[in-house]
Amino acid sequence: MSRVYNFSAGPSMLPEEVLKKAQSEMVEYGTSGMSVMEMSHRSKDYQEIIDSAEALVRELMNVPDNYKVMFLQGGGSTQFAMIPLNLGLKNKKADYVITGQWAKKAAAEAEKFITVNKVASSADKTFSYIPKLDKSTFSSDADYFYICYNNTIYGTRYTTLPETDVPLVADISSCVMSEVIDVSKFGLLFAGAQKNLGPAGVTLVIAREDLIENAMDITPTMLQYKIHADNGSMYNTPPTYGIYVLKLVLEWIKEKGGVAELQKINEKKAKILYDFLDSSKLFKGTVVPEDRSLMNVPFVTGNEELDAKFVAEAKAAGFVNLKGHRTVGGMRASIYNAMPVEGVEKLVEFMKKFEAENL
Ligand SMILES: *Cc1c(COP(=O)(O)O)cnc(C)c1O
Repeated sequence: MSRVYNFSAGPSMLPEEVLKKAQSEMVEYGTSGMSVMEMSHRSKDYQEIIDSAEALVRELMNVPDNYKVMFLQGGGSTQFAMIPLNLGLKNKKADYVITGQWAKKAAAEAEKFITVNKVASSADKTFSYIPKLDKSTFSSDADYFYICYNNTIYGTRYTTLPETDVPLVADISSCVMSEVIDVSKFGLLFAGAQKNLGPAGVTLVIAREDLIENAMDITPTMLQYKIHADNGSMYNTPPTYGIYVLKLVLEWIKEKGGVAELQKINEKKAKILYDFLDSSKLFKGTVVPEDRSLMNVPFVTGNEELDAKFVAEAKAAGFVNLKGHRTVGGMRASIYNAMPVEGVEKLVEFMKKFEAENL
């Protein structure tokens, strides 16, 4: 058995060093005589793990002191409800930019609690671009302005942020720590861990303190940010093992030189793939060049049968999970932090060979 190059959109590949480290500590963690999975979350050993995870988030993302860092459950999708419930209580109104399924789902969930103003959408061209925003369409009385920073399914990302007068909220599930993000420009950021940070089951939330003081009266206790923030993400049992692996991933990021260094590597990886797609006579990228994601690269041959043949042959050659999202078709290569440059280079070599054989 050898490890494959895993291009899954999520849950996705983790650095092998992290898996090995988790393996070496699996049965006995430090001097505790037990696995992290078996530990009380109230133990000193566990407190050190979660404290160190939070400290690393703060260090790697340069999180200002007036922001809370939380490790929650319920995935990115639970944030779709928590955000309006906690941030939408003043005017019960928010602006959303619809750049794909995740933004659409977030807006639909928010509509259960507040008025949603959809300021723009790229649905007209299968979400293959980030719409240009016109400030005159923004609601001046919105409680917040919501974007999905990197669109995992369609492979687009923001390269300039909307200029809003109200707190900016962003779903960074698929781009967290892949490029430098200025946290101070946001009211709230969140990311399900399973794309770039660790195993599924943990959601990282970074929120400006003053925005999470109150929630709507109807908000269940477990959906109140303040409850989790005041209790150091330990109001109830947190996803202990997931947070531990996340901590190992953060240590790995730090060892690699931090987010700015990873960004350089990610830009290099993306360029290798996009340059090939732009020169290929068989494959082509589906996103306008200026809005291309560094993390998720969708592409097609234009022929569904050929797409299926490519996915099958790639799999046999050790490049797995390249099938596009079920709503888009074609292919998608997700090249998160853990994907080495060599994985992308080898994929491109394989694509060139496939092109020569099938053109
Ligand atoms: C995967 C993903 C989600 C959904 O995350 P879950 O943890 O499955 O709820 C939300 N937003 C984006 C951008 C994603 O990539």
